[in-house]
Amino acid sequence: MAEKVAFLGLGTMGSGMAANLLRAGFSLAVYNRTAAKAKPLIDAGARLASTPADAARGASIVISMLADDTASREVWLGKDGALATADKGAVLIESSTVSPAWIAELAVLVAQHGAQFLDAPVTGSRVHAESAQLSILVGGSEATLNAVKPVLQAMSKEILHLGPVGSGAKLKLINNFLCGVQVASLAEGLAWIERSGLDREKALAFLKTGAPGSPVFGMVSARMVSQIYSVNFMLKLMAKDLLYAQNEAARCDLDLTTAQTARKLFEDAVTKGFGGEDMASVIQPLRNK
Ligand code: NAP
Repeated sequence: MAEKVAFLGLGTMGSGMAANLLRAGFSLAVYNRTAAKAKPLIDAGARLASTPADAARGASIVISMLADDTASREVWLGKDGALATADKGAVLIESSTVSPAWIAELAVLVAQHGAQFLDAPVTGSRVHAESAQLSILVGGSEATLNAVKPVLQAMSKEILHLGPVGSGAKLKLINNFLCGVQVASLAEGLAWIERSGLDREKALAFLKTGAPGSPVFGMVSARMVSQIYSVNFMLKLMAKDLLYAQNEAARCDLDLTTAQTARKLFEDAVTKGFGGEDMASVIQPLRNK
């Protein structure tokens, strides 16, 4: 396959996504701040880049999957950042969940550089990243999307083209706002069940198949019950997403009061040491009260 891809950020999601690009036969250079995390990919045939600039050099497509706005800014624009060495005409893709304001700023810089840009955040979690079952929410021109479709297809089950640059980032924040509020209310609901004297399994089985049931309810309630908090979705990232959602909605003159309340629960859990655990652990401070 001719396409040379650079992948920046090998965390929970990026590792699985990059592995699927290798599996699909793309020539791959990878960069991660903590280089040790790249080992399985290097063993599988990827080139280890020492900096984002090194990864981007000579690539026709550069994808980043990083924690937040700060990490994305650092990797694209910081010392040895990827933008400086990206080929004119390359397609640069931001897949991290970041703010639409940052996407707009980055898109202008990419255009000034002479490259193409898409925002392409994803839904699905670690298992979906590993099994190429992500949904990808794309903002940008259709022609640019068509040029990189085989690469996005190698990581996903569906690709939604939503409109101009920034559209993917906006829908992603709405998606995570709705998930985050639900997980926060589930934590309170389950803590309440546990204190109420009800049979927890019976109560949950009823709620799961009733009106409040949803994929998030099923998945996260099971983890809250088992208290296994190995990371599918890191708790502190949900606090970040709710903050970005509030800021973005404010630009549309909307005050997300439910996001504010949910964020308080997540930030409380961060303070109590659960930031690096799975988001299901947001229930623990409520249990430990
Ligand atoms: P993660 O496991 O925490 O990985 C974060 C990545 O960002 C790592 O590669 C980390 O490098 C890098 N990073 C953080 N700060 C940095 C900095 N200042 N400079 C350079 N690199 C930095 O997160 P993840 O779960 O893979 O999520 C990645 C993105 O996808 C996030 O925006 C998240 O909100 C979003 N997302 C996550 C999920 C999910 O279920 N996990 C689902 C959809 C979308 P190190 O390895 O050196 O720390």
